Amino acid sequence: MSRHQIIRQRHDTRRRTLTVASIEALGDHMRRMVFTSPELHDFVSASADDHIKLFFATADGETVMRDFTPRRFDTAKGTLTIDFALHDAGPATQWAAAAQVGDTLAIGGPRGSAVVPDDFDWYLLIGDETALPAIGRRVEELRSGVPVITLGLVNGADDEQTFATHAKWTGHWVHRAGTDASDTDLLLEALWNIALPRSEGFVWIAAETAVAKALRSHLLDRLGHPREWLKAAGYWTRGHADAADKALDG
Ligand SMILES: Cc1cc2nc3c(=O)[nH]c(=O)nc-3n(C[C@H](O)[C@H](O)[C@H](O)COP(=O)(O)OP(=O)(O)OC[C@H]3O[C@@H](n4cnc5c(N)ncnc54)[C@H](O)[C@@H]3O)c2cc1C
Repeated sequence: MSRHQIIRQRHDTRRRTLTVASIEALGDHMRRMVFTSPELHDFVSASADDHIKLFFATADGETVMRDFTPRRFDTAKGTLTIDFALHDAGPATQWAAAAQVGDTLAIGGPRGSAVVPDDFDWYLLIGDETALPAIGRRVEELRSGVPVITLGLVNGADDEQTFATHAKWTGHWVHRAGTDASDTDLLLEALWNIALPRSEGFVWIAAETAVAKALRSHLLDRLGHPREWLKAAGYWTRGHADAADKALDG
């Protein structure tokens, strides 16, 4: 098989009901929940940026779905970890802010995985809070010694995360608080100051849709990064509920 080939896998999907087993604050703006369920014994998630659907009941009796990342899972123990970014409003953030140990949550998926091979010379992973679960998972799963650079956008120093890894991880953080600059400007400025290796690297970007688009263009058009070695996604869209743009091509 040729190098750097992204392999797509399909998975059988089914709905599972999970119970909150523990809750931990990740800084001031994220909540990590570990769920348990015997139904997780055959849960499959082959890629760090897989997503599952979470189902929430609204006040008027409807069910809505939102996308989240399986941050970590253990089929033998029947556990699944999800990290929730807390923001102003929306059924997912409201549920996550109020959830208590013992609450239940229905999930579906993942329906498929796009497995990025662990054979690149280096990795660059960029994103905001919603991307940190996928970024953290990939940093932890990469092979020993491979250089991986992350650029995370968070509110402040308390919101930075650390990842346990054998890869050669360099973490850069930019903070929104105390600045008038836009998320795009903050990330682009930080990116200018990061020296990328000249060898063959994979770039992954996920953030608010307009921010992800700007970063993608910068990497492709200004830095000349090969299109096939870059994956960018809008994980949410400012002012629109449930508006992910999972694969940016434009
Ligand atoms: C593949 C994929 C994986 C994802 N994984 C995760 C994950 O692991 N953890 C996680 O926290 N999120 C993740 N997200 C993002 C999450 O799905 C969205 O943020 C989602 O909109 C949250 O739903 P909600 O019900 O809270 O808000 P919605 O009802 O969708 O939106 C309500 C309002 O809040 C705004 N909004 C939505 N998200 C944010 C935000 N992060 N910051 C500020 N304003 C926002 C919207 O623009 C809208 O105006 C993922 C998205 C995708 C596509």
